[in-house]
Amino acid sequence: MSQKVAFHTLGCKLNFSETSTIGKQFLRKGFDIVDYNDHADVYVINTCTVTDNADKECRQVVRRALKNNPNGFVVVTGCYAQLRPEEIAKIDGVDAVLGSNEKFNLFDYMESFEKKDLSCIHVSPTEKLDSFHSSFSTEADNRTRAFFKVQDGCDYKCSFCTIPLARGKSRSADPETVVKEFKELLAAGYKEIILTGVNVGDYGSVLNHNHTLDHDQDYEQGHEPQINLYSLLKMMLKVEGDYRIRISSIEPNLLTDEILELTANEKRMCNHFHIPLQSGSSKILRMMQRRYRTEDYSDLIRRAAGKIDDLGIGVDVIVGFPGETEDDFIETYNFLRDLPISYLHVFTYSERPNTKAMDMEGQVDIVERKKRANMLRILSEKKRREFYERMKGKKMEVLFEYENHDGYMKGFSSNYVRIKALYNSEIINKFAQVKITEVDENICTAENLSINVH
Ligand code: SF4
Repeated sequence: MSQKVAFHTLGCKLNFSETSTIGKQFLRKGFDIVDYNDHADVYVINTCTVTDNADKECRQVVRRALKNNPNGFVVVTGCYAQLRPEEIAKIDGVDAVLGSNEKFNLFDYMESFEKKDLSCIHVSPTEKLDSFHSSFSTEADNRTRAFFKVQDGCDYKCSFCTIPLARGKSRSADPETVVKEFKELLAAGYKEIILTGVNVGDYGSVLNHNHTLDHDQDYEQGHEPQINLYSLLKMMLKVEGDYRIRISSIEPNLLTDEILELTANEKRMCNHFHIPLQSGSSKILRMMQRRYRTEDYSDLIRRAAGKIDDLGIGVDVIVGFPGETEDDFIETYNFLRDLPISYLHVFTYSERPNTKAMDMEGQVDIVERKKRANMLRILSEKKRREFYERMKGKKMEVLFEYENHDGYMKGFSSNYVRIKALYNSEIINKFAQVKITEVDENICTAENLSINVH
């Protein structure tokens, strides 16, 4: 009988895509993948460092594994494992800790999955995190949208962030490999490809290839063509087919006018951007060591919204950063209220070891941080509702997903509006033209469905 492995992933889509790559290593070795709540021989936990209680969460997930099989071999990997290997190795029941590089060659480090008295640690230092491992994943039971990693690591130095320590320097997938894997994803039936990475907009930063790119401007100016996210998108869009491309998130200073133009003129580019802001106070942005001022951000948002029809814009924001006074927070609140954005992802600041922010003065009281986060979450609901209301009566293109929820199917439009309609298996995983008729809490209802081909 084949051995069984189960996975649990914490954190972002990038982690999910990487878990899927680790899964392939096990499949190649003849393992079956089972649910995390089932009896497995090996449990792999892919951790995150951004979550507030990485340590507590990790312990809980280890306990769950051992409840399912007390003799199960537990491997912990991911960002938290890279940053705190010794701490994790001390957790009861953990057999192996693998760093960010090692997880991609798991079987080189694990000769057997026999439990021993002491757990083993294989973690390279941060400066050795320089290789690129491509990966992609899909949401559970969803063969509609694929998360496709094209970039890893980050060279920025935001004062609150430990990701560069956990993931190393910015590096990118070779563009030809990206195009090849992109074609494979399309051939496998995925219709929406979501480009992911730690800092996707920085794509190409450390590539040094002699690729022939269709980057007219560079040629005209006599420069060697540069490889960047824009040129990668142009290469991908040369592939024929019925698909759309979404950029998972992009730093405001990297969202160039050429990407905006491309999005405005190319139907296969989703008219949706997720653009981290983090604070609406330039004072706080400086302390965060972000690379733009509030006025740069608002110019960008207004320029983008003016250029691209019905553009959906999501924004990350952190509240309670050290030194954020009530007035600074109100500045952030008003700044966001007045921008044409469609939703927020609100994060409550929490201290991370080895960050500059941890030692800053003016730490904000926890209760106050939570209060500010709640205020912004309410603002986010209001913004989303307003944006959805604007879509009422409009014709939109939706990609409906596989599940049938009480007679309804759900999906997203290109501009990231969640839409439901009466279930119709003919329309699943096809681009459907719909008309929005109603807006509820967090979803629009649509009718008049017809299949649309790009
Ligand atoms: S851009 Fe800033 S917040 Fe984002 S991963 Fe890099 S250092 Fe962290």
